[in-house]
Amino acid sequence: MDKNTTLMSLDTIRALATDTLMAHGCDRENAEAVAEIITKAEGDGCHSHGLMRLPGYVATLKSGKVNGKARPTVKQLAPAIVQVNGHNGFAPLALQTGRAELIKSAKTCGIAAMPLIGIHHFAALWTEVEPVAEAGLVAFACTSYKPAVIPAGGSQALYGTNPICFGWPRMGKPPMVFDQASSVMARGEVMLAAREGHKLPEGVGVDADGNPSTDPDAVLKGALLAFGGYKGSSIAMMVELLAGGLIGESFSFEAAARDNNDGGPPQGGEFMLAMDPNLFGDQSGWADHAEALFDQIKAQDGTRLPGERRHRVRGESEASGVAVSNIILDKIRAL
Ligand code: NDP
Repeated sequence: MDKNTTLMSLDTIRALATDTLMAHGCDRENAEAVAEIITKAEGDGCHSHGLMRLPGYVATLKSGKVNGKARPTVKQLAPAIVQVNGHNGFAPLALQTGRAELIKSAKTCGIAAMPLIGIHHFAALWTEVEPVAEAGLVAFACTSYKPAVIPAGGSQALYGTNPICFGWPRMGKPPMVFDQASSVMARGEVMLAAREGHKLPEGVGVDADGNPSTDPDAVLKGALLAFGGYKGSSIAMMVELLAGGLIGESFSFEAAARDNNDGGPPQGGEFMLAMDPNLFGDQSGWADHAEALFDQIKAQDGTRLPGERRHRVRGESEASGVAVSNIILDKIRAL
């Protein structure tokens, strides 16, 4: 066991997150919803979206930017459009509140969308897509943030790191879920590298003067590059349009303009889509057909399906706990 970490069970992590959030103004429902997402991230080895985020959540409660007692409301805008208004609360309770209605609408109409407005989003998207895929639906989600990524050819951060997440249900197996930032590297990973004193690979970002840099602190003051050049840049733009323009929420640059920079997530939106594969014309075949593709992928040495690492780590965490950085625990205790 590394002396810089403390071994914690998932229940201890959940309790620490819940208690900390309740001590700083969350009611139990909001605290438990956020704590569940933090615990899932730690349990699946996605530490950049685990306890490390708790000080940011607390900062937003302390500054009054987020309402820790918000009660999200659901409005059916059309038969297949389930709008959730987070009323300025954290995203997890809003997602939880709308999920059953999204699943019901998708199973009735074949396809349904859930625009989320008035939320503060800070988390890994797979935590929200996986439950929808576990309900037997093909799912997609994306969200914007604050400017951190340069549009291809430009010099100023304009897009958020704008993750996209896609989930595919499987019979008798966990769904296939991939979840990736549209920047070369998620900002959380850059923050983690800065905290741990690691250099970044070449091509991740630029410093405040626009010069390429491998220093995570310099890149945090500068900007990130989109993955795949102009192709990733267009995906980041698509996320701005889906999670902002389409649903009446802000673009990343607008979210930043009204943000108080307390270290926590700005207020913004999220877009989620769910499709019932039983209603797209291949009711009896779609599941096996997809398995044939997955088999072909895995037949090649060196491949794996996205999400398989997380599920392996999840099993280990449930059995043996998670090694949590003492630096993070000290920060949380200091709150
Ligand atoms: P990664 O680059 O670590 O991983 C991206 C995806 O690729 C994962 O699904 C991963 O699966 C999969 N993958 C990785 N290696 C392989 C491989 N060799 N073969 C097949 N699949 C592979 O993620 P990012 O750093 O881009 O993003 C990290 C997180 O940050 C995401 O969860 C994202 O939602 C979150 N984020 C949140 C933001 C917000 O504002 N809320 C903003 C930006 C990012 P596996 O997990 O199994 O390794």
